Amino acid sequence: MLTKVIEQAKIDHFTKWFERADKIVIVSHVSPDGDAIGSSLGLYHFLNSQEKTVNVIVPNAFPDFLRWMPGSKDILLYDRYKDFADKLIAEADVICCLDFNALKRIDDMADAVAAAPARKIMIDHHLYPEEFCKIVMSYPKISSTSELIFRLICRMGYFSDITKEGAECIYTGMMTDTGGFTYNSNNREIYFIISELLSKGIDKDDIYRKVYNTYSESRLRLMGYVLSNMTVYPDCNSALITLTKAEQSKFNYIKGDSEGFVNIPLSIKNVCFSCFLREDTEKPMIKISLRSVGTFPCNQLAAEFFNGGGHLNASGGEFFGTMEEAKAVFEKALEKYKPLLTSKS
Ligand code: 5GP
Ligand code: MN
Repeated sequence: MLTKVIEQAKIDHFTKWFERADKIVIVSHVSPDGDAIGSSLGLYHFLNSQEKTVNVIVPNAFPDFLRWMPGSKDILLYDRYKDFADKLIAEADVICCLDFNALKRIDDMADAVAAAPARKIMIDHHLYPEEFCKIVMSYPKISSTSELIFRLICRMGYFSDITKEGAECIYTGMMTDTGGFTYNSNNREIYFIISELLSKGIDKDDIYRKVYNTYSESRLRLMGYVLSNMTVYPDCNSALITLTKAEQSKFNYIKGDSEGFVNIPLSIKNVCFSCFLREDTEKPMIKISLRSVGTFPCNQLAAEFFNGGGHLNASGGEFFGTMEEAKAVFEKALEKYKPLLTSKS
């Protein structure tokens, strides 16, 4: 049995909307990850099974390793089909905002979503949700939005309508947001849910291989290159890896090729904080990815130094300037946070 994470009043409220709605739009955050796509498609398959007109719209492309996911071909990319997407958003009865807590996380879609007359619901697990949705299902203690989608569907009484395809998507989001169940994954209910998803016929081992073991040769070589240039700060139990645009083109970089790199330095003994600085290919900025193990608050450092945020152990931000400047800011941040980075906890 599962704990009732989502308040009954919110389930009842959404059920009312759901019963009356015909056109439902699901939106998720920019540079969608496994949980953004997994939760969106998990909900998409369920709503489709209830004869709703459903569209999933994300701001821009998602990585290749998620393309196998059932329904992924139906996802609309806002940066390519803006006019059509704007029409769907404007005409929706209900808009479901998944895996993000602030309108700025959906980039250029923000205005259209904010202006839409639709009823809006947020289903998310990031801290500090902004108020742009009437129903807010925000549970930062839950490790993935996909898990919340499973909980929502079950609480509405539709477990039996979850298909194998929907279960595959939900599982993928749960798996990717916990690094294959290696962090944020000590809640035993996660494994109860996995057991329920397995009952739908999913092959979890195959999903793991499809997500993590289908990379290109050039990605592996890029990984070797990035790691060979890594800087370790033993005094701060920290490590930094970087990737410039010039380096990206040398390795035929395609979007998603550096996915997961930021976690690798954490496998060094005593390193509890890792930073990845990557020159963005689309915007003139450096994308910051931060990861920690234990109690070090990446999100606090991200907010203070990189105009970002996120979770305690996984956060990110943006920096407008050169790689050298970004690195200098990072080192300044390390100095400031040194007491926290070196305290035994
Ligand atoms: P990633 O390193 O995978 O890009 O991001 C990890 C987490 O950090 C995301 O799930 C998100 O919560 C947060 N995050 C990443 N980039 C940003 C950003 O620019 N602003 C904010 N507020 N959060 C971010
Ligand atoms: Mn997530």
